Amino acid sequence: MITPGNLRKKVVLVGGGHTHALVLHVLKRDPLRNVDLTVINPGKTAPYSGMLPGFVAGHYQRDDLDIDLQELADRVGATLIDGRAVGMDVDEGHVILQDKTRLPYDLASVDVGITSHMKALPGFAENGIPAKPLAEFASRWDTYRSAEGPKNAAIIGGGIAGAEIAMAMAFALRNDPNDVSIKLLDRSQILSHNSKTAQRLVRQALLRNSVELLEGANVAEVTPSSVVFTDGTSIDANFVVGAAGATPHDWVRNTGLHLKNGFIEVDATLQTSAPGVFAVGDCAHMSFDPRPKAGVFAVRQAPVLTANLHLSLSGGALRTYQPQSDYLKLVSLGGKHAFGEKTGYGFSGHLMWRLKDKIDRDFMRQFSA
Ligand SMILES: Cc1cc2nc3c(=O)[nH]c(=O)nc-3n(C[C@H](O)[C@H](O)[C@H](O)COP(=O)(O)OP(=O)(O)OC[C@H]3O[C@@H](n4cnc5c(N)ncnc54)[C@H](O)[C@@H]3O)c2cc1C
Repeated sequence: MITPGNLRKKVVLVGGGHTHALVLHVLKRDPLRNVDLTVINPGKTAPYSGMLPGFVAGHYQRDDLDIDLQELADRVGATLIDGRAVGMDVDEGHVILQDKTRLPYDLASVDVGITSHMKALPGFAENGIPAKPLAEFASRWDTYRSAEGPKNAAIIGGGIAGAEIAMAMAFALRNDPNDVSIKLLDRSQILSHNSKTAQRLVRQALLRNSVELLEGANVAEVTPSSVVFTDGTSIDANFVVGAAGATPHDWVRNTGLHLKNGFIEVDATLQTSAPGVFAVGDCAHMSFDPRPKAGVFAVRQAPVLTANLHLSLSGGALRTYQPQSDYLKLVSLGGKHAFGEKTGYGFSGHLMWRLKDKIDRDFMRQFSA
């Protein structure tokens, strides 16, 4: 609980990730009283990840997947700072912005996602494009897709996100008059962390989309026109996407918050090691019941975080969050087909796509209500 008194309290939401967008949406009906609310995000919109592969494939327009953070902030009287947090001083209760401004808070929550920057890979920073943050990736893809000349794309990381992006690119470029090749690279086997059904059905879809699979491929360097492997061989590549793994943002390391492999540790109330500071979404590690990084958890944390912001201000006991053990995984397969899996059963086809499309559009539609 924060100190009582009649003074207005300062609540700062760091990052406009899925949880914070939903919190802003819910606060319209159930506002925080006597509070100055600030949201920090680089950009006034944040893309919804579920629709990103559909945008890459050409099924959605760019603004279909944009959550309008400015509008959400305006509706609840919050201030949106178009900027980036680079640190926190949890002893003083300050968020530090890129321009060195120190923003005081009584309560804060961090929802900044992850990055797929491959800092240790030579040439990636100059010549590669991380799949996350999504906004930057989406605009780089838009430019590349409409450019003239041969299109040799390589996606590093053969997990679900990498496979989805590769199929979406292949679908988008299927009628491109230039030479097109899309390669999915993995240092071991693609989809090795997924079920046998997912491996079989997604592999078939990759082949149908003419995505070339390079397994056991250890990347040594990315150049402006190629990917070079540790055995000295190379492939032509003029658009190299990093989709391998989830890397926490560097600046989080200097906040003093307790971390697990760089992710902010939270307890079941979503509170970090610093009282009054919460963390949600991919940047948080749920030490009480760890889960993989997936938007479904970010979404389900939103009502608990909203309640706990209210309760922290009023002094009640905080609510706890129990992450679900299974959830419907939906993977788009390039064209209007998707793979869906739950409780060990997996199916693919157009009906799965229609289900995914409906879920995603409903998710976005709620923000305009
Ligand atoms: C291609 C792809 C497809 C995916 N599809 C699915 C799917 O279908 N289903 C699913 O469940 N999951 C999916 N995921 C995973 C999903 O993207 C994440 O789990 C989800 O986005 C996590 O949301 P989040 O709340 O952590 O924040 P994010 O959506 O990651 O957003 C973080 C926000 O914080 C902002 N930010 C970053 N740094 C700072 C900073 N320093 N200061 C202030 N703001 C900052 C970013 O600009 C961004 O707006 C997919 C991922 C990828 C890469």
